[in-house]
Amino acid sequence: MSRIGVLALQGAFIEHERRVAELGATPFEIRERHDLDAPFDGLILPGGESTVQGKLLRELGLFEPVREKIVAGLPTFGTCAGLILLAKTIKDDPTVHFGVLDVTVERNSYGRQLGSFHADAPLMNGPVIPLSFIRAPKITALGDKVETLVVLDGTPVAVRQDNVIAAAFHPELDADTNLHRLFLSRCD
Ligand code: GLN
Repeated sequence: MSRIGVLALQGAFIEHERRVAELGATPFEIRERHDLDAPFDGLILPGGESTVQGKLLRELGLFEPVREKIVAGLPTFGTCAGLILLAKTIKDDPTVHFGVLDVTVERNSYGRQLGSFHADAPLMNGPVIPLSFIRAPKITALGDKVETLVVLDGTPVAVRQDNVIAAAFHPELDADTNLHRLFLSRCD
């Protein structure tokens, strides 16, 4: 059974843990360095505030070991702030967090809290899935190695590059399980 580490420093991590458990995998929370000691099969970076998460990751000594695991090929799924942590470039901002996903993102580009919205779009020409956006980052550029999984109004909103999947929306807040299942299929 897959063990999935969910970064639990801030933001919507509980919803991911529930979803992972519903789908038959075993979630655990990553809060400090020793949480990384036992082996695990996948990593989830939840939504929240990327600035806060980035700061806490560094302060807690988690940043380098987590980055090393992603670079080494650990299946990783980032949603919203998690997408920002993974991105190579943040528009108009010199900050780079893990910088492992060859996309440029523009933070808070889909409106402020009150501007949050729902939409639907197909996942890879397959099932139509619900998309919940909360002050979401917009993917404004993507590299050759990045595959688009979901497009909304001509803009990629979920992408994959090697072991990394990232979504601008919050699949953990809707009932649909397709994107989590896609991620977990890489974690066995
Ligand atoms: N606006 C947040 C950020 O910039 C992301 C929002 C979210 O994760 N729902 O980090």
